Amino acid sequence: MPYCYVLLRGQGHVALVDVGYSHRDHGKHLAEKYNIENWRPPHVVLAECGVVPEDVDTVFITHAHFDHFGNIDDFPNATFYVQREEIERWTWVLSLPDRMRWMTASLDPASIIRAAELSALGRIKFIDGDVENVIPGVDLHLARDSHTYGSMWVSVCNDRAAAPKDIWVLAGDLVSQFDNLEMDGSLIDVPTMYNPGAQTVGSYTNIIVAMEEMMKLVDHDAKRIVPVHEERLAERFPSRLSKEDLRISEICLADGAKSFVI
Ligand SMILES: [Zn+2]
Repeated sequence: MPYCYVLLRGQGHVALVDVGYSHRDHGKHLAEKYNIENWRPPHVVLAECGVVPEDVDTVFITHAHFDHFGNIDDFPNATFYVQREEIERWTWVLSLPDRMRWMTASLDPASIIRAAELSALGRIKFIDGDVENVIPGVDLHLARDSHTYGSMWVSVCNDRAAAPKDIWVLAGDLVSQFDNLEMDGSLIDVPTMYNPGAQTVGSYTNIIVAMEEMMKLVDHDAKRIVPVHEERLAERFPSRLSKEDLRISEICLADGAKSFVI
């Protein structure tokens, strides 16, 4: 299973959706528990797309799990956006007795501490709900009490039309693999159905409601919802392997932009 994050470039911005996991301290321990291999730091990963971490001005954090909110320290010039409930409630969970902390199986407590540090530095913006055009063409959507307490998904509008058609959804772990949107539905006698997946601390129902919101936004074209733990991204989008065995998939290109995979 791949562990990815997403680079957005355009309209004068270099932005990321999530920052991947940090291969040190508890992040390293979790990676070993989950059998993740071949970690590379963001400066190596982003070099494949001609970007250095210092170029990144904006980071959207879909949720605080270790594999999405790990490499926080690598982007000195970025402002981070995260849902307020996400950090507040994880902080509360960390205060609970060990016997109640089943929820923390995919959490690196250091990420929550670093979020507090970023907050003190004025570098993190806590969001309450949905935000349109947080940077041009990018909307943020709250899926409260779902995969996590304040999971967020990101939509990117790639055309400037009054009724845009070229929309992509970066789903965090609300949709982590293609099969989450297209599970065999024979159990209830439908062709396919949504499957809310695993590693969830909140409501399965809220995940399925969020999936429907995403699907409505992309006119029910599931190919426009990008899951970051999907091995078959390489079949759906132009992709290549770097010499370090990292995979880069290109979801779409800005007008006139040069491909990084061909
Ligand atoms: Zn997650």
